[in-house]
Amino acid sequence: MIFSRFFKKKPKSRPAPRVIPRDEHNISRANISPNALKVLYRLKSAGYQAYLVGGGVRDLLLGLEPKDFDIATDATPEEVKGVFRNCRLIGRRFRLAHVHFGREIIEVATFRSMREADADPAQTTENGMVLRDNVYGTIEEDALRRDFTVNALYYNIADFSVIDYADGLADLKAGVLRLMGDPETRYREDPVRMLRAARFAAKLGFRLAPETEEPITRLASLLDEVPPARLFEEVLKLFLSGTGVQAFEHLRHYGLFGHLFPDTEESLTHEEGGFPITLVLKGLENTDLRVQQGKPVTPAFLFAFLLWEPVRRQAEFYAQQGMESGPALHQAASEVLERQVGHVAIPKRFSVPMREIWSMQSRFAYTRGKRPQRLRSHPRFRAAYDFLLLRAESGEADPQLADWWTRYQQDGEQPAAEESTRPAKRRRPRRRRRKPAADQPPEG
Ligand code: ATP
Ligand code: MG
Repeated sequence: MIFSRFFKKKPKSRPAPRVIPRDEHNISRANISPNALKVLYRLKSAGYQAYLVGGGVRDLLLGLEPKDFDIATDATPEEVKGVFRNCRLIGRRFRLAHVHFGREIIEVATFRSMREADADPAQTTENGMVLRDNVYGTIEEDALRRDFTVNALYYNIADFSVIDYADGLADLKAGVLRLMGDPETRYREDPVRMLRAARFAAKLGFRLAPETEEPITRLASLLDEVPPARLFEEVLKLFLSGTGVQAFEHLRHYGLFGHLFPDTEESLTHEEGGFPITLVLKGLENTDLRVQQGKPVTPAFLFAFLLWEPVRRQAEFYAQQGMESGPALHQAASEVLERQVGHVAIPKRFSVPMREIWSMQSRFAYTRGKRPQRLRSHPRFRAAYDFLLLRAESGEADPQLADWWTRYQQDGEQPAAEESTRPAKRRRPRRRRRKPAADQPPEG
């Protein structure tokens, strides 16, 4: 019957997408990476749909410089590979095409749908976490499975319009991060979205919509389920993108930080003197400044100051039990690190230099004879010295000692000042209630 067929075919009613034509938005091709444009045009001329999507569109609309350009298409990964010679397929959970142009990689993702993952319990964990996410769909379905409305805007290379399926433009103008769909379900599907909320709030200076904000503290512990290797990547994005201080503050506010760095969180809440938080904040401030100035930053240094306080406290405990300061630090570092990598992985190429930065701290106390010269020629000297400055700035190490090393490097010879001849004395009067500081071995 013609009538029933007509009704059956009628799609579920959803508000029509808003299409913003070229002359009504500010995205100009001049601000899109030439390689991303090449990929868009090439897909289009091969007969596929091609859109810029995600952070690239969001940042361009905000007048910011995007970090990278992600492309969405109706071509399958294999079809994308067929179009580009310089293309590799990656990922199992999420099959993607990477188109390589020298050092620049343009990521091309096929439109996806959440349909099957919703229906099939084998694809999700007990807590609702989605394990596989590889069902291809329409652009509309692709928009709905994205995280925030401001991340679900598409720039169409066919007519240079922007397509808005989720009222993302209104949220963008209002400075609001709004998770699409039911927030609790979306956080359970992928708890990393809670970290992304904190990260984008920090980066964009946006606030979270009330319903997006509400479940976070309640669901924060779901982060414990996320593979540590994925959290490592997220931690770098949180803290090495130029707005680490704000990200840290959001993470602590929502009770997320403790699920990334439990030992650090513990040491921050126990401290009466206030300098551990100062060390972390100053470390993050310096890092933000370096990123903003285009200077290199290293995960080894980041993790060094994030984990220093629990390590230092544990080492102090062993020292009080009579252990030598070197082995005490070594043992403390191993223990803290072992617990830490159960939450956030730290690849060896970063944990090895991180431990060197720590173990060099005690060697700064020796300012006589040949030892300063030897220390200075250590390949990790610069990072370890920066770390000493950070400790001094936060009131945990002797500023005069830090000063000595600054002058030593400037003058190229050992300053003769008398304060240079005694080992570092920690300046933490408020914490010195139980034990006199006088002949403690220097920490590190
Ligand atoms: P930036 O690149 O500036 O960090 P971004 O928004 O581009 O921000 P990406 O991680 O590059 O973030 O992801 C690109 C897009 O993919 C996002 O904008 C979003 O639409 C989608 N996306 C990424 N991660 C998730 C996720 N965990 N859940 C749902 N959608 C996601
Ligand atoms: Mg991106």
